[in-house]
Amino acid sequence: RWADHDRRGPELYDPGRAADERRRHRLAAEMPAALERGEFTLHYQPLVRLADGETIGVEALARWQRPGAPGPLRFIRVAERTGLIHRLGRTLLEQACRQGAAWPDRLISVNLSPVQLGEPGLVAAVADILHRTGLPAGRLQLEITESAESLRYRSVLAGLGGLGVRLALDDFGTGWSSLAVLSTLPFTEAKLAGEFLLSTPDAVLRHLVEACHALGMTVTAEGIETAEQATTLRDLGCDHGQGYHLGRPAPA
Ligand code: C2E
Ligand code: MG
Ligand code: MG
Ligand code: MG
Repeated sequence: RWADHDRRGPELYDPGRAADERRRHRLAAEMPAALERGEFTLHYQPLVRLADGETIGVEALARWQRPGAPGPLRFIRVAERTGLIHRLGRTLLEQACRQGAAWPDRLISVNLSPVQLGEPGLVAAVADILHRTGLPAGRLQLEITESAESLRYRSVLAGLGGLGVRLALDDFGTGWSSLAVLSTLPFTEAKLAGEFLLSTPDAVLRHLVEACHALGMTVTAEGIETAEQATTLRDLGCDHGQGYHLGRPAPA
């Protein structure tokens, strides 16, 4: 079911769009077997403490290990539409926790789709994966992209927080949430999107970082591509950084 089709009145036949549609259906059809074959794996990108350059953890990023395969933004979206995200998400979470358990003292940060937040039994499933992999709950961080959809699941977010798992609001600045809304949700970290950092004046960023700290959140600056950006963002009060300058995503 392709749930989020544009419905803006009668549609004209558009050959480009029809081809896109066929490609999406082909991807959707190929993904379950690819999951069975173990073609979905994770790369890990360092999360760095800006004050001293120490690597405090890694973010796990999904990859489809096949020549010519699309990137995660594309295949995760397809998996969300077909429902495969539930199995794919659990497989990746378990993979990440197992790997994380083998890296002592490091945080392991895993992306959750808003669709997964709506999945019955998610909190119990996360607890079960922590138990089976032996990763202490405090070393798992779940990243949830800022969107109206994800922030609706208040009790699920509370349940995850109750496990002792850390919760990061991903791509903060690109969505709609106000600081007032954030103050009522159990996020322990705000990740400021790279595009947002580039387009927002420093004086505003400084106040935003301060507000996040006042709400009890640490702040990660994403998309750091130069040494100069790392210094500026550290001076603006950001706690952690992530980006090609600090380390690219790489296999375990
Ligand atoms: P994200 O969670 O915000 O992840 C950060 C993205 O920024 C990653 O792209 C990373 O490779 C990229 N990045 C890191 N440093 C830099 C930099 O310095 N410059 C630039 N321009 N980009 C940088 P990637 O791996 O292609 O993932 C894209 C998005 O796909 C992720 O954004 C996340 O929303 C989603 N995603 C990835 N893996 C998963 C997953 O396992 N589950 C779910 N639900 N979503 C995932
Ligand atoms: Mg993320
Ligand atoms: Mg994201
Ligand atoms: Mg992000």
